[in-house]
Amino acid sequence: MTQDCIFCKIVAGGIPSNQVYADELVIAFHDISPQAPTHILVIPRKHISDMNEASPQDQALLGHMMLCASKIAADAGLAERGYRLVLNTGPDARQSVFHIHLHILGGRRLSGQMT
Ligand code: AMP
Repeated sequence: MTQDCIFCKIVAGGIPSNQVYADELVIAFHDISPQAPTHILVIPRKHISDMNEASPQDQALLGHMMLCASKIAADAGLAERGYRLVLNTGPDARQSVFHIHLHILGGRRLSGQMT
């Protein structure tokens, strides 16, 4: 837990979230400002600021986040039509919350642009 991290506070239950999934390693909840009909964030319980801070020790955790995302997307009905997974790192990517999170975006035809 990092004192000023909003996602650590969500993990700890100090800030409410619209949670869709939780296990011993990660939680997932709806984004407060959805950019698509389905916009869910998957975050580790462990505080990792961004991908620059991730280490080989986090390999299994990062893989677990990806596999949880695919299960959550399937449960949300996105498997057939597809979805996008996004993980922003740093200012050029416009990362705004410095606790790693995987965006699951789907429910409409997304832009062909990656930028
Ligand atoms: P990023 O720009 O990749 O760092 O994404 C941060 C995301 O967190 C944004 O899409 C925000 O809308 C979302 N967000 C920020 N605060 C909350 C919150 N309290 N509950 C849910 N989503 C949030």
